[in-house]
Amino acid sequence: MEITFKEVSYTYYPNTPYEKKALHNVSFHIPSGAFVVIVGATGSGKSTLLQHMNGLLQPSSGKVSIGDYQLPITSKKVSLKELRKRVGIAFQFPEHQLFDETVREDILFGPKNFGIPEKDMEHRLQEVIHLVGLDEELIERSPFELSGGQMRKVAIAGVLASKPDVLVLDEPTAGLDPISRVEMMELFSSLHRLENITTILVTHHMEDALKYADYMIVLSNGRIHSKGKPVDIFNNQDALKEVQLLLPESIDMFHKLNQTFDLNLSYRGQSPFD
Ligand code: ADP
Repeated sequence: MEITFKEVSYTYYPNTPYEKKALHNVSFHIPSGAFVVIVGATGSGKSTLLQHMNGLLQPSSGKVSIGDYQLPITSKKVSLKELRKRVGIAFQFPEHQLFDETVREDILFGPKNFGIPEKDMEHRLQEVIHLVGLDEELIERSPFELSGGQMRKVAIAGVLASKPDVLVLDEPTAGLDPISRVEMMELFSSLHRLENITTILVTHHMEDALKYADYMIVLSNGRIHSKGKPVDIFNNQDALKEVQLLLPESIDMFHKLNQTFDLNLSYRGQSPFD
């Protein structure tokens, strides 16, 4: 599904002493099937932006379109349920939202809620546990008996079980050891490649942005600081400053990766993202 933000602003608690403008005139276009990485300092608006992707938040002004859905919703007849089925979101530390008695129940919570026929459930369950690399014998266990990495996989499997067209991931590898991090990024990469899932991922790891993203958005104080192909971001002195400000080690990393991957540093043609 294509995603377009057009001059989107969002204010928490408008017209109160707690008023906080978190997004200012944010515009971008994500073509169907893209892999987009969003970076920005804490408080720059990443999470507020992600919550617009399935209507958890609706713009205070401006417009968001996700496939055929338009936000803000102006008609009471439009339900967000279908949108939430098609856009799966995993927030930071998604394992904190596990609650059911068994791994099976937790993973199948979404599909049940979205009315997937009972006869398809077992197949769905098997499919997603294999996708995320969970051992079958864990299915009947309590999610709370599992290791942190396994719990994270259960939570991600729960998001995938609804077969979303768009996967939105807020720092999905935070707190994982380096091996689990690579495994998880490879999982998202293969889902993106093989199932053509549009993927939008927030990370602090620039090497992941360079390795996987088609497109990058740098947020700063609720505004788009810069956007473009990862190589363009790293070639843009101004954006570089912003990223360097956030992640001093990332520039070194970029130069190393540039040698490793022989990245194409020249930019040609019209970007489908503009
Ligand atoms: P990030 O995900 O980049 O850390 P957020 O989207 O969480 O940024 O926050 C953007 C701004 O909005 C910050 O100033 C933050 O304090 C504020 N904010 C976030 N959530 C809320 C909320 N529920 N109520 C009020 N202000 C909020």
